[in-house]
Amino acid sequence: KDDYQLRRIKPLDPTVVNKIAAGEIIERPENAVKELLENALDAGSTSIEVLLKDGGLKLLQISDNGAGIHYDDLPYLCQRFSTSKLEKFEDLQQIQTFGFRGEALASISHVAKVTITTKREGDLHAWRAFYVDGKLAPTAPHNTSAPQPCAGKQGTVITVEDIFYNVPGRKAALKHANEEYRRILNLMQKYAIHSEKVSFSCKKVGETVASISLSSRLSIKDKIRHVFGTLAVKHLKALKIPEGTINVESFHADGLISSADYEDKKSIFIVFINNRLVESIELKNAIDETYSKFLHKGASYFVYLSLSMKPEQVDVNFHPSKRIVHFLYDHEIIGAISDKLAELLKNTDEQRSFTMQT
Ligand code: ADP
Ligand code: MG
Repeated sequence: KDDYQLRRIKPLDPTVVNKIAAGEIIERPENAVKELLENALDAGSTSIEVLLKDGGLKLLQISDNGAGIHYDDLPYLCQRFSTSKLEKFEDLQQIQTFGFRGEALASISHVAKVTITTKREGDLHAWRAFYVDGKLAPTAPHNTSAPQPCAGKQGTVITVEDIFYNVPGRKAALKHANEEYRRILNLMQKYAIHSEKVSFSCKKVGETVASISLSSRLSIKDKIRHVFGTLAVKHLKALKIPEGTINVESFHADGLISSADYEDKKSIFIVFINNRLVESIELKNAIDETYSKFLHKGASYFVYLSLSMKPEQVDVNFHPSKRIVHFLYDHEIIGAISDKLAELLKNTDEQRSFTMQT
């Protein structure tokens, strides 16, 4: 037998801890893009541009025109649990920003090489800094890890190179650049549809035409048309649950749902809770069930929902990725959405049989 009995407990080296933790948040380039997009939105950006090489595996760059980062903060930028968004644990209840854990940039810097160029309003020039494993690191041609002055516009450009270069198992599992690219595009499309005052674009290195380019001036319906085609918008109806409809303080819902006449290949289901793109199996199941009462089996639908509730009713701190959130009164809320959806679908059903009769 091995000498298991002889082994003693020792704390893990911090870089090992950080690398393990990074794996939880950054599984693939898409997760990095989500974190970086949300940071750009938190910084008040109105324009976000993403550039990708090999589906983000080789290079992933995101440029924003947000507030920028203070020079003095650069040493802490990629340090784990360092954030400008949260001070006390209690504040988490009221959190309005996407971020609060101060873990995203740290995680990314533990599995990739990160370069940041940032300029705040009123700064005379931008600063560029390079990070590896959570810390400022030297980069050619300078032999110092101190941030270097450079030219730049207001905002922040974050470049993530060679993701998982130091996690061979993960890198080997992600060989299909096209799949990674498709996921990132998908994610950006959802944020673009939801974020009213922000323009989004995504491009591959070397291509002149952007894969998506959605101006903040477009309406939600126009954005959906750009992304999913004319067919998708043809049968969309507004779903609205005004505040006070159900007995959950401040709850209201807005969205667009396809009527029974929708005919596309696959279903699209997009939910934002307090502006955060989330996954909710319970809600998805309830929607599936409601549609199945009006559509033939396996028929597809389009659902985009934006739910708003008091921040303290949503537990965003359920998983480091913040993708899965828990919310209070989920039965009441899901019930109200299903009822409203059924009502809208019933109306189209009746209208249809009416036009068929006449
Ligand atoms: P969190 O978002 O949870 O605070 P991050 O690791 O994502 O943690 O980011 C750390 C900090 O870096 C943020 O709190 C913010 O102050 C700053 N930051 C990150 N990205 C940007 C950006 N695009 N523009 C301005 N500040 C940024
Ligand atoms: Mg963040």
